[in-house]
Amino acid sequence: MDKLIDENKVEEFLSIVNNGRQIVIVPHVNPDGDAIGSALGLWHVMVQMGKQANVVVPNSFPDFLQWLNGSNKVIDFEKQNEKALSVFRESDVMIVVDFNDFDRSEGLSDALNAFAGTTIMIDHHPEPVAKCNLVISYPQVSSNCELLFRLTERAGLLKFVNQPAAEAIFTGMMTDTGNFSYNASDPETYSIIAALLEKGVDKDTINANVYHTFSEDRWRLIGHSLKEKMVVLHEYRTAYISLTKDELKQFNFQPGDTEGLVNYPLMVKGIVFCVLFMEKDDHVKLSLRSKGSFSVNQFARNHFDGGGHCNAAGGKTKLDMNDAVGFFKQLLPNYEAKLLNSI
Ligand code: 5GP
Ligand code: MN
Repeated sequence: MDKLIDENKVEEFLSIVNNGRQIVIVPHVNPDGDAIGSALGLWHVMVQMGKQANVVVPNSFPDFLQWLNGSNKVIDFEKQNEKALSVFRESDVMIVVDFNDFDRSEGLSDALNAFAGTTIMIDHHPEPVAKCNLVISYPQVSSNCELLFRLTERAGLLKFVNQPAAEAIFTGMMTDTGNFSYNASDPETYSIIAALLEKGVDKDTINANVYHTFSEDRWRLIGHSLKEKMVVLHEYRTAYISLTKDELKQFNFQPGDTEGLVNYPLMVKGIVFCVLFMEKDDHVKLSLRSKGSFSVNQFARNHFDGGGHCNAAGGKTKLDMNDAVGFFKQLLPNYEAKLLNSI
């Protein structure tokens, strides 16, 4: 059996969960497939174990994940503020999934910091910050959903992974690896996929639910971004796309519409670093991706108040869009050697 997770962590996890009365599960802000998959996958397992459990999200998650079983039970802090806070007051165990710094839960961070019960982190990002009673952090695992599966297996809880849990876990594994196209070379990943298929996962349907349900506006926004807005700086093996609020409005932007867009410039031959800048109400949000050894986690931490993984990270700045892009471009010469040597 897979020995990745320390035995004592597995035992502590079981002891906390078994002794817990009510469990609140929290993913990061703007939850993606891996965050929602981890939260709902764990929720189903807890419910199967006979536990009282709730998922509270800091804000809403995209339509292409709403088909997941249990979505309608998720409490959205932005929309159901009081209900969310009462769940935190009533719960004695909190499990944060797919993030490792309470600031990444944005509006919920006060509730997380003030939580009086026992706290568990299940995460796969480097350099955990949040102080939790139990930290289950393995950055070498490509998706948090895969880590969750490995944990349930080690803890002898596989019998509680029912079909809805398996579908949630599969969804996170699929989305966090770009449909198994990066960080997806570990044979163990496919043993887990096989186990999930045995649990009744319909891989083709999930693939269609997530990737074949784009609105016309979303496709046209992708077209506009690539045709009009992608800038390729071959001398730095870098490309970027910037989208203003007006442009997003023009394409009737909905949460999740830019999911995956940042990956397109990396498909240009020779490009190893790319950034998507998106104008928000009071800041510009960055999504950063790279190939090879060039660490966007480090780049985002150094300059854009962010972080993430070596090849996928995020950040933000209070500069306006023009200045943000200008600041970014003037940083590139400092990274020239690293960019030219990446891979
Ligand atoms: P995305 O670009 O898809 O929003 O995020 C890529 C990765 O970076 C994810 O693993 C996400 O958790 C992380 N990330 C995104 N934004 C931030 C941020 O503002 N701060 C930190 N520390 N990580 C981020
Ligand atoms: Mn993830």
